[in-house]
Amino acid sequence: MTRPFLPLASSGGLVDQFGRVARDLRVSVTDRCNLRCTYCMPAEGLPWLPKPEMLSDDELLRLIGLFIRDGVTQARLTAGDPLLRPSIVELVAGTAVLEPRPRIAMTTNGVGLARVSQALAEAGLDRVNVSLDTIDSETFTQLTRRDRLADVEKGLAAAAEAGLTPVKVNAVAMRGVNDDSVADVLQWCLERRYELRFIEQMPLDAQHAWDRGDMVTADEIRARLSERYTLTPLPAEERGSAPAERFLVDGGPETVGIIASVTSPFCAACDRTRLTADGQVRNCLFSRTETDLRGPMRDGASDDELLDLMRGEMWRKRRGHGIGDPDFVQPDRPMSAIGG
Ligand code: SAM
Repeated sequence: MTRPFLPLASSGGLVDQFGRVARDLRVSVTDRCNLRCTYCMPAEGLPWLPKPEMLSDDELLRLIGLFIRDGVTQARLTAGDPLLRPSIVELVAGTAVLEPRPRIAMTTNGVGLARVSQALAEAGLDRVNVSLDTIDSETFTQLTRRDRLADVEKGLAAAAEAGLTPVKVNAVAMRGVNDDSVADVLQWCLERRYELRFIEQMPLDAQHAWDRGDMVTADEIRARLSERYTLTPLPAEERGSAPAERFLVDGGPETVGIIASVTSPFCAACDRTRLTADGQVRNCLFSRTETDLRGPMRDGASDDELLDLMRGEMWRKRRGHGIGDPDFVQPDRPMSAIGG
């Protein structure tokens, strides 16, 4: 095996040249999804990863364990849609017995959540983020190309019932699609005690059709919400590495978050690292390079050799995502294959 690049930081920890330390691992457990959100995937889906290229549960757990050994404190399971991995409950259970135990979270579209919420909670899942861009059934069907809103609603209720709290809802606002109803989504979430966060649409679609000029900005979302609610910003120091700017709604205690990932990036405070379903480490959603762990692992690399590879990838993390720079190029992997 060729010797990996040894970063200055190889003595320990997932640090980069700008002093950021990775604590939050996003693990994509499959690239498949059961929705076809128009801003994410084409109607016909994508060429899925062949099974032999995907990490087995044992391989995933070995790598998650190494990330934890090197300072990661939260593992978020994502995908495509993580509930499409048949062994998702076993993966959660396997993560929950790693030492030191990380917080375990999941990002899902919620379609399959009603069926497995209880089992996931019993296996050790701590909380869940459900993606839901609209509460209008017709808009949902157009946007996701699937008539599954009722399943998502049941999934959310089941997650709350199973104690996967606070249940968070993530929404993307799109011009002419759902931007006129962001306050309706907030009202719906407030009534059910779900914590809502809007996120600006990013250039990560498989179709490469993202257009900055057409993006609904964080400021616009805030203005729309303010037509119905009084939003009071929470102090910036409470934010830490969290990407969302949070606001008390009508004096609280409920809050809403807005993530200005494009217009006001949080890269300086980013503490994330990513592992794809085929065993590549990525230091950023927008990275155009990645480091392969699967090949070396299957060739017999030791834990220390794999840690060197992870640290090297993190060391090379760029200062910022660079959207808006003249030389910005969208990554080849779409969001669904990286894991959002
Ligand atoms: N299927 C799961 C879900 O729906 O949560 C996990 C994967 S999905 C790619 C994760 C999140 O990324 C979702 O909230 C989705 O709305 C968001 N997303 C997808 N494409 C996006 C884009 N271009 N910009 C911003 N968010 C995006």
